[in-house]
Amino acid sequence: MENHHVTKLEISLSALKHNYHYLKNKTKPGTKTLAVVKAFAYGLEPVNIAKTLEKEGVDYFGVAYADEGIKLRENGIKTPILVLHAQVSNYDLLIKHNLEPNIYSLYTLKQFIAFAKENHLEDYPIHLKFNSGLNRLGFNIDEVEELIQLVQHNKNIKIVSAFSHIAASEDLNEKEFTEKQISTFNSIITVLRSKLKHHFVVHMSNTSGVINYPNAHFDMVRLGIGLYGFGNDTEETAKLKNVASLKSVISQIRTVKKGDSISYNMAFTAQKEEKIAIIPIGHADGFSRPLGCGNGYVTIHGQKAYTSGNICMDMILVNVTNIDCKEGDEVVIFNNQQTVEEFATICHTISYEILTAISQRIKKTFI
Ligand SMILES: *Cc1c(COP(=O)(O)O)cnc(C)c1O
Repeated sequence: MENHHVTKLEISLSALKHNYHYLKNKTKPGTKTLAVVKAFAYGLEPVNIAKTLEKEGVDYFGVAYADEGIKLRENGIKTPILVLHAQVSNYDLLIKHNLEPNIYSLYTLKQFIAFAKENHLEDYPIHLKFNSGLNRLGFNIDEVEELIQLVQHNKNIKIVSAFSHIAASEDLNEKEFTEKQISTFNSIITVLRSKLKHHFVVHMSNTSGVINYPNAHFDMVRLGIGLYGFGNDTEETAKLKNVASLKSVISQIRTVKKGDSISYNMAFTAQKEEKIAIIPIGHADGFSRPLGCGNGYVTIHGQKAYTSGNICMDMILVNVTNIDCKEGDEVVIFNNQQTVEEFATICHTISYEILTAISQRIKKTFI
């Protein structure tokens, strides 16, 4: 169904391409890239983003769950897709859509091997994930022996990559911890290489790993937030281009008198006559409640209009007393990375959550 919503997210595919090449150029020639397009490509739009990156020559896509991979396949994406949090109950779907599971435990490995055997699969590509310190998904180092015994002579599956994930790649205060993770992973890889005689791809770095840890680039890097314009500090972010701009329009303007309360629960009372604009974006769209009561703002004709009172589910109220504007005028929620970072700080979160919280009902357009 076509989306007629007036609040829209403009996505710059040329900025996306710039960011992809900027990050790829930080790796040595021949290093492969996996573009992470999970969670609707971080709240933006996965299909056009994946199509654009596929044309730029990305080697792999990464999604979190099967459905996300299926959506890409149904829209014609041919590049291999790694399902980072593959579920045992979805193995049949993965096979059907030519998606490659992350196998991260002895349990998932045994389940997948049994499934592959039952379905007479041959050399089905799988990826092994190792825990090097994040303590999230992954085999522990002491499980490597048993793992090797299970896979060594198995013809139903084929290990195409081995990977790990860094806990604090963006934080140079944790350099010692990260270097330890890298060396733990290196020793796992050494054992794997000695036992598995065929070639497999090794990968560990997310965006910040690409920026901070060249010794963790290995054969492939996994690019997420950087593609969408955010580095690990303001300096790196400045070298990336802004991909997403969120815009809306003024639905109504009203004047309130001194003593009138504004929005739900009388959280704000006007101290003088004020002009209030109502904008069709709310907390259900990702404009989070901590941005209410004057903490957050939108931009109208280049001027900041701060929120007035509580954020509602479908709309916000902003103070436009000193802004020359009328109903129907354009409203910019954000059109640069700094504003997103600022909103993230106000909401005690990170840019990732501000982007992924952008609701699906917001219209996506491409420039
Ligand atoms: C989400 C994710 C990434 C991407 O991380 P960014 O910090 O967004 O670059 C990479 N690897 C794994 C395993 C992930 O879950």
